This record gives sequence, C-alpha cells and structure tokens, in this order.
Amino acid sequence: MSRLAAFGHRLGLALLPARCLVCREPGSRGQDLCGACRTDLPFNRVACARCALPLPVAGLCGACLRQPPPFTASRAVLVYRFPADQLLPRFKFHGDLAAGRLLSQLMAEELADAPRPPALVPLPLHPARLRQRGDDPALELARPLARALGLPLRDDLLRRVRATSPQSELDAASRRHNVRSAFSAPNPRALPGHVALVDDVMTTGATLAEATRALLRAGVARVDLWVAARVP
Ligand SMILES: [Zn+2]
Ligand SMILES: [Zn+2]
Repeated sequence: MSRLAAFGHRLGLALLPARCLVCREPGSRGQDLCGACRTDLPFNRVACARCALPLPVAGLCGACLRQPPPFTASRAVLVYRFPADQLLPRFKFHGDLAAGRLLSQLMAEELADAPRPPALVPLPLHPARLRQRGDDPALELARPLARALGLPLRDDLLRRVRATSPQSELDAASRRHNVRSAFSAPNPRALPGHVALVDDVMTTGATLAEATRALLRAGVARVDLWVAARVP
C-alpha cells in the first residue's frame, strides 16, 4: 500500500476500493473482506464466558471453575487460527493498518451485544517498548472500536511500570511470574466502576489478569476483556 493510501486508511478515507485482505478478491460491505472469507472466519461465538476459551458448548471452562480469574467476563472475536493468525501478525509486526482496521471493525460488530462498560482501556505497552515499536497495537484497535461503539477511551487509567520479556517465549508458569506487578493504575480521577480491557491476542491471559488486578486494586469494581483473537 502506498504511503498516501496508508494515510487515507488511517483517516478512514476510502482512497482504494475495498479488497479482501485474505484472498485479494473485491471486498464487500465496504470492508477489506469478501463475503466468502467472512463466512469462513473462525468466529469465537461458543466459548468460556469468563476467559473466552473456545468450548464445544457455552458455559465455563474447567480452569475458570477451579480458579476464577480476576476479570468478570471475556469476549474474543476470533479464534487464533487462519486467517486471524495471519491478519494479527500483519497488523502487529508489519504495520498493516488495513488489517488492524478490519480487526477493529469485526470487534465492533461482534461486541455490539456485549454488556457496555462506561470506558474502554487499551492494554498499555511499556514506554520503552512503545518507543521501539512506534505504535501501540491495543490502542490502534481500541481507538476506532471506542468510536464505533460510542464509548469513552481511557488510555490514562493504566500504566505499564515494568518492562517484561515477550510472553511468547515463556511457558504458562513463567508468564505469570514475568508480568507480576507490571502494571499500575495511578489514582486516576473519575474512575469508572466497570471497564473493558482491550488487547489484540489472548493466550493464557496472564498479562490481562495482571492488568485487571491493578485496575481492581485502584478501585474499579468490574473488568471485562475484549480481545480480537483467542489462542485455543
Ligand atoms: Zn476473501
Ligand atoms: Zn475459562
């Protein structure tokens, strides 16, 4: 995509005809997704209500029954398999803004029926990581999502106070240890009682659980998770 077209996409201008990001056929509904690929999307509509783990029937997964996580409810729009496992890395690691925009649009459509929190909170990156990357994927998803659903975006509520190793390199136990005390919620004014934390991909949920604990300690009564994709 040219720099001008990318700039146009960032502004939400349709400088290019919609084209399916999965198969390159013309898009439908003005989105960069065709009807056939939309039908084949791995929507995560039957899942654990608490942690969004895909399940054969709706309910709670065994892990959440044994030890409920600190968040109240989770929604993950897609299961992290094809084409989510291509679209998310394209957006997150290769700066594909059209992929990010499509993911945010799919989140807005699928989450339209979710309980509405009075604020959306993007999962923050550590400032050093943000400088290195130049953009913040959770914020890039949350900003248009907040606009589409008419919800305030509160990126002032949560800070990442400790740099952590990439979670993808760690096993589940190390993931929990790695993110301990990684977040703080610095006594913000006008603290909402209920927020949805927004992130791109949820794997074990360790990072999101730690961010949830920081918000609960600060006085938020309920934290839900809204993510683009869930690793099964
Ligand atoms: Zn397609
Ligand atoms: Zn669960």
